[in-house]
Amino acid sequence: MSKLQEILDYNRFFVENKEYVKYRTSKEPNKKLVILSCMDTRLTELLPKALNLKNGDVKLIKNAGASIMHPFGSIIRSIVVAVYEFKADEVLVIGHYGCGMSNLNGDKILEKAIERGISEEVITTLCNAGIDIKKWLHGFDSVEESIKESVELIKNHPLIPKDIKIHGLIIDPETGKLEVIVNGYE
Ligand SMILES: [Zn+2]
Repeated sequence: MSKLQEILDYNRFFVENKEYVKYRTSKEPNKKLVILSCMDTRLTELLPKALNLKNGDVKLIKNAGASIMHPFGSIIRSIVVAVYEFKADEVLVIGHYGCGMSNLNGDKILEKAIERGISEEVITTLCNAGIDIKKWLHGFDSVEESIKESVELIKNHPLIPKDIKIHGLIIDPETGKLEVIVNGYE
């Protein structure tokens, strides 16, 4: 059975049995929080459980490495919308140890892309168009530094109001233990 068919079959059961009832909530985050974290599979359930978050409590934004690539990219856009449209007043940037984006090598990814059939010409064309793909693919050298940079970027962003508290934390992907890197109240 295909992955899609398996999902659709389960979904029919889920809806017919009204399994959704216990997840009903509103669009506004009950805890007035936005969380930016990593797409790491170990955090899918662990992060909400370790922070005591239920459906409806937070706006959860995830990408590879909990990184903000651009001050006017989709991450900041999501935070701005969460603040003005959904009344969030605190932001948690939560990175983690053992992140796949730590010391990620752009050259190696491009090698794999070529092995998978992407032509070298395409890569050359992108580079000639001024896109620094290696830098774009590169992760970070230190998770602490990456979190601090993200916190500063959000804090100093021209569209983020000054009363929004921005915190930076690291979560242990095995135990769920949190470590505060930046306390936004200080
Ligand atoms: Zn990660």
